[in-house]
Amino acid sequence: MKDTIIALLSLSELDLKMLELRTKRDTYPREVTRLQVLKKALLVDLNEYVGKFKDLQVSKNALEQEVATNLEGIKKHEGQLTQVKDNESYKALQNEINTAKDKNSLLEEEILNKMEQIENSENSIDKKKKDLKSQEDDLNAKEKECHEEVAKLDAQIKDWMAKREEHLKAVDTKTLDQYEKILIKTKDTAIVSIEGQECGGCHMRLSPQLINETMSGLGVQMCPDCSRMLYCKEKISETT
Ligand SMILES: [Zn+2]
Repeated sequence: MKDTIIALLSLSELDLKMLELRTKRDTYPREVTRLQVLKKALLVDLNEYVGKFKDLQVSKNALEQEVATNLEGIKKHEGQLTQVKDNESYKALQNEINTAKDKNSLLEEEILNKMEQIENSENSIDKKKKDLKSQEDDLNAKEKECHEEVAKLDAQIKDWMAKREEHLKAVDTKTLDQYEKILIKTKDTAIVSIEGQECGGCHMRLSPQLINETMSGLGVQMCPDCSRMLYCKEKISETT
């Protein structure tokens, strides 16, 4: 029995190491997803700037169109000036021409304003693109590191699996089966020592009878609460 317990303890040690490797490995796919989300966000941000730039161009074009339409009106009214006979109509036409000219002055100011905004927007986009490039390079490098780390950990896990296979030979099939079932349930360790009068896994108080049975080493005893296999540290060190 003592030999079985010792073999199970070695196995448990290996399993804990593998759990550690697997837990570490599992963090990387999440990190890769996080990096990809960040990259997408950068692109969305840039696209927003490009959208604003396009809007500015559209509104500048509309203003220019309005100026052109007004100019046509002015030209037409100026032509009509030579044809009107009465003073009232002449004054009315002249008024319309002046109003259109004033309107155009304002529109031209607005156009200049838009052009300045467009230039600023272009500069912002250039800067954003440069920032995006360097941030993307940075994120890509981190992503590459993650993939390399996963490959490294996978190789280590494979090595540990081979070691584990070797250790399995020292335990009988029935005990091993029991061990594996407990491990699936607890996910960390299937065999724990008795600590004082408690189970070293779940810290429930154990009955004196169970402690005695574990001490006697006649068979594998299990914690009634967490179902982990129990062993007695003192007994194991006695034998080694
Ligand atoms: Zn327990």
